Amino acid sequence: MSETRKRILTGDRPTGKLHLGHYVGSLKNRVALQDEYECFFLIADLHTLTTRPEKEHIKELGSNIRDMVLDYLAVGIDPEKSVIYLQSAVQEVYELNLFFEMLVTVPRLSRLPSIKEMARAAKLGEAVPFGLLGYPVLQAADILLPKAHLVPVGKDNEAHVEITREIARRFNNLYGEVFPIPEVMIGEVPTLVGIDGQAKMSKSLNNAIFLSDDAKTVRKKVFQMYTDPNRIRADIPGRVEGNPVFIYHDIFNPNKEEVEDLKERYRKGKVGDVEVKEKLARALNAFLDPIRERREYFAGQKGLVEEILYSGTLRMREEARATMKEVRSAMGMASVWNRIRRKAEERRKRQEKEAAG
Ligand code: ATP
Ligand code: MG
Repeated sequence: MSETRKRILTGDRPTGKLHLGHYVGSLKNRVALQDEYECFFLIADLHTLTTRPEKEHIKELGSNIRDMVLDYLAVGIDPEKSVIYLQSAVQEVYELNLFFEMLVTVPRLSRLPSIKEMARAAKLGEAVPFGLLGYPVLQAADILLPKAHLVPVGKDNEAHVEITREIARRFNNLYGEVFPIPEVMIGEVPTLVGIDGQAKMSKSLNNAIFLSDDAKTVRKKVFQMYTDPNRIRADIPGRVEGNPVFIYHDIFNPNKEEVEDLKERYRKGKVGDVEVKEKLARALNAFLDPIRERREYFAGQKGLVEEILYSGTLRMREEARATMKEVRSAMGMASVWNRIRRKAEERRKRQEKEAAG
């Protein structure tokens, strides 16, 4: 593989299994770009601490991480091509995060709707931890540590990548050109709505269809799905636009003729919800079947997930060390300590000589 390929960095918090929203928002792009780019995918366990620092949640990380890596493999992320690594095991990210904290203002971060949204979802009220405010700063450290050029994420993360760009520019202005200014890449479906039809599909909102859900569960969730609330009987004309059932049909049902027929009859009040949902469940299960199969295959290989994460993390550590050397040197942070060490070592040597002579 040529070393001149541009780089991708993106990742997910190990707060649960991955869902359809992750797939259309980010995973699909990751799989498609694996050959063109050198990819780094991180399991952002440190980011989980921003809203869940309690030990009971830390204990859940292990099994969540395993599930996530299996989800990656199941959708087609290939560890032979892409690096999958554990954020907390790369010490350099803590250091770069701290340097970056000096390059962004509190009002800039406070204005981000995503931080307020996360605080709300975690029921934190006004008690936003300093670390949650710094969520996008840590993300900037993740992205810039391997000097990524492209960041495939869902719409809710777009503003965070903008912060990364600002931090990279500010760093380069102050200390010299070290970092590329990364571009964001939003998925084909920027934000997939949850089955509740209210909020974006989210691991922590109880409105997700997971990539690992079995066929029965998917069917059950589809039948719970929010549709047009005004349509209390099958013979009442319904709204197709903005209706989650049809949003999902458009994305996941490859039989476009069937979808158009359902929409037309729905608008006229000539089809029941049961038929629309039955066909959606079938389409979703057909989409998920090969993913489930691959997931099961990889889950059966003892130690495989761990091996992938272990070697990916070691590989990332090399990149991280190289970048941080450059960062410290550009900032002039290395020279102070190097001078101290040199002088101290010289003195020790002199004393040893004196003692010996
Ligand atoms: P949490 O509830 O813990 O925040 P989440 O479901 O929002 O979990 P994240 O780990 O925050 O998932 O997001 C991982 C990636 O998936 C991000 O790039 C995010 O933008 C994208 N993503 C998450 N949910 C959706 C969605 N419903 N539609 C499109 N993209 C999404
Ligand atoms: Mg999220």
